Amino acid sequence: EGCSNPPIDAARLSVITRKPRLTSLVLDNVSKSYGATRVLDGVSLSMEAGEFVAFLGPSGSGKSTLLRIIAGLETLDSGTVTLGGRRIDTLAPGARDVAMVFQAYALYPHMTVAENMAFGLRNAKVPTAEIEARIAQAATSLEIGDWLDRKPGQLSGGQRQRVAIGRAIVKNPALFLLDEPLSNLDAALRNRTRVELAQLRQRVAAAIIMVTHDQAEAMTLADRIMVMNDCRIQQVGTPLEIYARPANAFVARFVGSPA
Ligand code: ADP
Ligand code: MG
Repeated sequence: EGCSNPPIDAARLSVITRKPRLTSLVLDNVSKSYGATRVLDGVSLSMEAGEFVAFLGPSGSGKSTLLRIIAGLETLDSGTVTLGGRRIDTLAPGARDVAMVFQAYALYPHMTVAENMAFGLRNAKVPTAEIEARIAQAATSLEIGDWLDRKPGQLSGGQRQRVAIGRAIVKNPALFLLDEPLSNLDAALRNRTRVELAQLRQRVAAAIIMVTHDQAEAMTLADRIMVMNDCRIQQVGTPLEIYARPANAFVARFVGSPA
């Protein structure tokens, strides 16, 4: 009879063969003190490419410090940070393949929206045509195309936050770092931007870390949540795991688990 099976359709095979997910970010035993004050004590975490992880914890628990360490805006005392298999904690911020969105937008006030988005790319010597194409694409998907010639001062807070997200997107980074991106917005804008962040993770292959002190925000957006308190990771897990099986009394109280 010979081979009676029909040839395997490669396109179908790629659907049914699960690709192993690539490890993206690895934090290994990261510690940090300011003077005599310990802020991070042996933080370790492994993230996959495409994963959305929320850093959740009360004010002062070291969430922003950890983000700034990953971005290279702050040095670590000990430990390592690896992104896509490459150690990055020794690299300059611009060489790390990460893009950060700050709580207070941090747009350049004297530049237009388009110039704000182009600035980092020009510094990275991305060709002008490529810069224009990336800005046009991000402007379409975020619906910020009408504001490209405006200065940040002519935009509302919510509009500025969308521009800040757009400025991160055009960098096409391996990792997005978002520090409380919703906290300065009113309730309606927060909902709208929350939807945009959910769409961001569909659009990009990158890993996303979002810092928040709002457990509802973390629960609705993240694949996994890292709960921080007292310089340390209290628990890492899916929203359901964190809620249904809190690792300790702090986590239970913080995420409002049933007693
Ligand atoms: P979170 O983002 O979770 O609110 P932070 O990372 O901003 O926490 O701060 C963690 C702790 O580190 C706080 O006690 C804060 O006062 C302290 N801290 C943050 N940045 C500095 C700094 N540049 N110098 C001294 N202390 C700092
Ligand atoms: Mg903070």
